[in-house]
Amino acid sequence: MMDDRVMPRAVVLGAGMAGLAAAESLVESHWKVTVIDASGRPGGVLGTRREDGWLVERSADTFLAARSEVIDMVARIGLSDALVGVAPEVRRALVWHGGRGIPAPDGFRLLAPGSVGGILRTSLLSPAGRLRVLAERFVPARSRPRDTADDDESLESFAVRRLGREAFENLVQPLAAGIWTADPARLGMAAACPEFFAMERDAGSLWAGERARLAARATADTGDSSRRGDHGTAGARYGQFLTLVDGMESLPVGLAARLRANGVTFVTARATALARRTTHWRVEGSGDDGPVIHEADAVVVALPAAAAATLVRGEDPVLAAELAAIEYAGSAIVSLGFSRGDVAHPLDAAGMVVPRREGRRALALSFSSSKFPGRAPDAAVLVRVFLGGALDPEVVHLEEAPLVDLARREVEVLIGARGQPRLTHVERWHGAMPQYHVGHVARVGRVSAAVGRHPGLALAGAAYEGVGIPQVIASGRRAAERVVSSAALPPAGVR
Ligand SMILES: Cc1cc2nc3c(=O)[nH]c(=O)nc-3n(C[C@H](O)[C@H](O)[C@H](O)COP(=O)(O)OP(=O)(O)OC[C@H]3O[C@@H](n4cnc5c(N)ncnc54)[C@H](O)[C@@H]3O)c2cc1C
Repeated sequence: MMDDRVMPRAVVLGAGMAGLAAAESLVESHWKVTVIDASGRPGGVLGTRREDGWLVERSADTFLAARSEVIDMVARIGLSDALVGVAPEVRRALVWHGGRGIPAPDGFRLLAPGSVGGILRTSLLSPAGRLRVLAERFVPARSRPRDTADDDESLESFAVRRLGREAFENLVQPLAAGIWTADPARLGMAAACPEFFAMERDAGSLWAGERARLAARATADTGDSSRRGDHGTAGARYGQFLTLVDGMESLPVGLAARLRANGVTFVTARATALARRTTHWRVEGSGDDGPVIHEADAVVVALPAAAAATLVRGEDPVLAAELAAIEYAGSAIVSLGFSRGDVAHPLDAAGMVVPRREGRRALALSFSSSKFPGRAPDAAVLVRVFLGGALDPEVVHLEEAPLVDLARREVEVLIGARGQPRLTHVERWHGAMPQYHVGHVARVGRVSAAVGRHPGLALAGAAYEGVGIPQVIASGRRAAERVVSSAALPPAGVR
């Protein structure tokens, strides 16, 4: 092991998944790391509550299996055996439509109509709406510039143009709201849905793009099966989404323990100032016991964009202005536990999304106890109700009692849940979800260019290049690589 006195030093601000991933990567590069977080616990928005046989997630309850970042991290901390996929019998989403929950069309993936039969059979669209989706392949591709950050369009404009207004309102809008809690008229395709945005440009239509994707996947599945390890088959083995059997919090808690064992110091303090000195960076903050000051060769700022903006303002007001312009939306999650007999619906899906045009307040329901084992005691069910988002911003400011009342009215109508809940748990997230509005990719380009002028500084987190946990971990690791390669290190003897 390298002598502490000659190791380069980094401060990581924020112990969410981005900050923890950055710290892990810096340790691998033999840096001495201090992680500073205001909350005093690792994981940021991730958190799990366990009580009397219930397991309630505070925010994220699952992550995409198709990307390897979380699966690899879970393996490094020795938790691979704790991975669980969504139960195979409920791997489908329902859409609330005309007073009942109807399965999303077979093969339909957010914007891509996967199968003709799925569209023809769905009762979520009128005959005219179905024909309009089937005609998507004949809608001329809009000519768009290639390889430029200015190529963007709102989700609503893109979906209406390609699939028709009815498919947008009945399918795309509710499925997207369940992921980004965003206003689809402002959500930018280039940042939020790059895969589908590229399909039009590269394949001419969503139909053609999805067919090409499915064909490529079929070839990979048959051609590669003998060479794949366990993780390569994650999609097939677990389905599209995974969790950890004891809850998502086991990921940051396990990683933080591993980091501590590898010499990382965790400090509880709110960072208040960041400044470049001739030979190093200086971070100031306030902790429970008073001011804290840390000096380091490099700093990774893995904070929400507004907090990052405040810190960098003194060094770079232009960068701060770009960061401050990234908007966030709030939301509330009300988790309700019922006796099984008090819920009429069979809960035979992963959850239900609710189109805005249906005039309800719930954005989506997640049927937690149907998806994963151990989320509710025997003969009970756990349902999470998602409320708020960019188009219903007042909800997050409601007191706990009216929020629970609102959620109970929603589940009574949507899944026939009656009677007194055996568990209620409310989580309000004020401004926790970054909104990738049209122009976000260009803004992130300007942010990167500005950061590039500060050796030893990097940004990471959900604000920039993906809100999902795998993408956030990737951003932390990239940030660590950037500071390792850009920090202006003095010779070891003078450190
Ligand atoms: C309600 C909700 C549900 C979600 N569901 C899913 C899901 O199912 N699947 C999925 O993949 N993703 C989901 N996400 C997204 C994903 O969980 C987040 O994008 C990701 O965890 C954010 O990680 P982060 O490190 O960027 O930020 P955060 O987790 O926000 O961490 C930032 C950290 O910075 C600290 N901090 C803030 N200011 C300061 C300061 N001045 N000084 C020191 N510390 C400070 C905070 O205490 C916090 O620990 C969800 C997000 C939310 C909010």
